[in-house]
Amino acid sequence: MKSLLTYSALNCFRNCPRKYQLRYVEHLRRPERPDALAFGSVIHAALESWYRITDDPHRLLKVQALIDAAFPLRDADSEVRHHWHLARAMIEGYAARYPTEPFEVVEIEKEFTAEIRNPDTGRESQTFVIGGKADGIVRLDGELYLLEHKTASSITSDYLDRLWTDTQIALYSHYLRELGYPIVGVLYNCLLKTRLRQRAGETQDEFEIRRAELAAKNKSGRSTAQRQEPETDAEFRARLADWHAAPGAFHRERIYLSEDRMALLTEEVWQITQQYLDAKRRGKWLLNTSHCFSFQRPCDYLPLCQSGFNPNVRANLYEVVPPHEELTQLTVSAGVDDSF
Ligand code: SF4
Repeated sequence: MKSLLTYSALNCFRNCPRKYQLRYVEHLRRPERPDALAFGSVIHAALESWYRITDDPHRLLKVQALIDAAFPLRDADSEVRHHWHLARAMIEGYAARYPTEPFEVVEIEKEFTAEIRNPDTGRESQTFVIGGKADGIVRLDGELYLLEHKTASSITSDYLDRLWTDTQIALYSHYLRELGYPIVGVLYNCLLKTRLRQRAGETQDEFEIRRAELAAKNKSGRSTAQRQEPETDAEFRARLADWHAAPGAFHRERIYLSEDRMALLTEEVWQITQQYLDAKRRGKWLLNTSHCFSFQRPCDYLPLCQSGFNPNVRANLYEVVPPHEELTQLTVSAGVDDSF
């Protein structure tokens, strides 16, 4: 039986073979999950639901309920509550911005597997199939596009330029074409995450300090300043709604995919699978230290690598969690199956 290779696993190996080994062979993971990732997952699930029930007159209510269920600790934890407010406001703003769509939804959360081929001979890999899950496939102006949701903290021209380098989506398009979907491009559906925060108000001490500073600037030596009260939920929601009603809160970008680029990518996939088999055969997983700080934060495995793979660091900081990645129905076994 062939093993399923996801884009995440493939990209992980390309970035750092040792990281791949730690994540996909040894199944090590840091217990905590970055908030940004959790927030992105909730929005992703909300959009999936939004597009699955397009004919439902209560669909916004249902998606709001889904978001509420994703933040069960919102009354006990202020940070969870903050993300709940943001997720609700983002989806409510989205619903207001796109009450109807210029496209027809063809597939939502489309899972697929496809053969990886040797680009020189056309022969199928005997070891792997590639698998993935596309956010959606839509028909727009008579042609098929992949629909890809992105949450971002800012949408600059750099950010839009980087969409052209989105290897995962180009590969998905290639393999979905092989499966009978004549995809011509990608429709990126970008949702901006606001930096607004609910105002906490002043403590009595903070107020006294501020009042003293204002009084010192005043000739009379007095100040009429009032203590700032915490912002209520209703006030914060109103501010969030205004923010999401602004033109830049949502953005869509249509990108066409060139045949040349897809041909290069499929060649790269083949090469990476060959390098993987070689690493596994030799039991050598190189450390690519130029990748340790690639995502504006240290790699999750930095403490382990820095410690020289000390077993105490490993036991204290990591838990063993088999990867599930983006596929739910399929078993991800890359790196586990000894029949490679
Ligand atoms: S810390 Fe650096 S060398 Fe170690 S796994 Fe991560 S990217 Fe690779």
